[in-house]
Amino acid sequence: MAFESLADKLQNTFRKLKGKGKISEKDLKDAMREVKLALLEADVNFKVVKDFVRQVSERASGAEVMESLTPAQQVIKIVNEELVRLMGGTEQRLSISSKPPTVIMMAGLQGAGKTTTAAKLGGLLKKQGKRPLLCACDVYRPAAVKQLQIVGGKLDLPVFAEEGCTDAVKIAKDGLAHALAHANDILIIDTAGRLHIDEALMNELKEISKEVKPTEILLVVDAMTGQDAVNVADAFNKELEIGGVILTKLDGDTRGGAALSVRAVTNKPIKFCGMGEKLTDLEVFHPDRMASRILGMGDMLSLIEKAEQALDMKKAEELERKLRTQQFTFTDFLDQMEQMKNMGPLQNVLGMLPGVNAAALKNVDVDEKRLARIEAIIKAMTPRERDLLDKLTPSRKERIARGSGTGMNEVNALIKQFEQMQKMMKQLSGGMSKKMKKNRGF
Ligand code: GDP
Repeated sequence: MAFESLADKLQNTFRKLKGKGKISEKDLKDAMREVKLALLEADVNFKVVKDFVRQVSERASGAEVMESLTPAQQVIKIVNEELVRLMGGTEQRLSISSKPPTVIMMAGLQGAGKTTTAAKLGGLLKKQGKRPLLCACDVYRPAAVKQLQIVGGKLDLPVFAEEGCTDAVKIAKDGLAHALAHANDILIIDTAGRLHIDEALMNELKEISKEVKPTEILLVVDAMTGQDAVNVADAFNKELEIGGVILTKLDGDTRGGAALSVRAVTNKPIKFCGMGEKLTDLEVFHPDRMASRILGMGDMLSLIEKAEQALDMKKAEELERKLRTQQFTFTDFLDQMEQMKNMGPLQNVLGMLPGVNAAALKNVDVDEKRLARIEAIIKAMTPRERDLLDKLTPSRKERIARGSGTGMNEVNALIKQFEQMQKMMKQLSGGMSKKMKKNRGF
């Protein structure tokens, strides 16, 4: 989970501080030393750590903080503000050209997640009503063009490619012409990466950039590589006119070194972050929400946004109606599970809740496995069985158990659970109407 180990350490330090009531200069010094160690262990750039700790110490050691009624809270507040500032303050939006198409050029090393992120970004912009075109200019990595076509296809995004052509600059130019001719207001160019930064790569990127004049060059770096990601960003930034950074694989980055240093080292904002392998797992990078997550203050806003995106409101209303009229079937059950899955891994979702600490999430994995087995059981049913039109006889149950790779016990348990749920709903609606009648004096 993002920032898990850093968050654990910082929260631990502040828990100790909070337990003290009044804090002395020495308490503050000790706490700051722990913060420094935690940040260094999180692979945050050394100079960034030094500046950060100095800034927090200066602000916190004033009489206003130390003599306040809640000194520990004040220190946490300062750390929070400084973390937000370190990550860029407010979120930075994509630059959109006043003359379409907006051309976004993706750059980065091989494996950073460029191709996947090009498609994810296209998907995000499409949701906002844009008409993005993806352009496949990675002519070196075998199968990169095919990969972009596949991920683009999954999101229903058009992909411009010139199979067999090895001239990336020509493809980019043709892609731009294609976007103009087909009224695509966004062109996202996926470029080639290399294992390391080399001159040929930089020259090619500069050539493409010269020809298509991107509105924005977005640098894709892998958060899990920590300081390496920052060094890569620094090197690219010196050669190209970078507009912003996309930090991928933040979902697997427990330390957070790249997220906390990229902005300070390159002076370029992180605009988006990749939070998982699914094509919907790209988020606008909100420095304030990230800081809240690190300090265990929860991230309710992200959670609400996620829910709004994932839940199909029409389906939710329909579900509510079915629950009320007791027409809830296994098909609906499955549907509901799909919607839950759209919100991403359960651990990520729970991690955004205030007060949920990382250690408590260790067991959640088990529940996800259970959900997968329930899903398998329902999927092994025939459509008529799912809609409760055919009775689940013992021989049918046996077939379902075999088909889902589970056992009779599990199938029976699920059916029992489902029946109990139906019964409960019946009682609930029956009980409610009785009570209502009583209240109204019937
Ligand atoms: P490219 O060589 O830069 O084009 O990289 P790819 O787009 O092929 O991505 C490399 C790998 O990283 C793929 O397996 C992706 O699924 C994975 N990946 C990309 N972004 C993310 C992310 O945000 N989270 C996770 N967990 N994996 C990601």
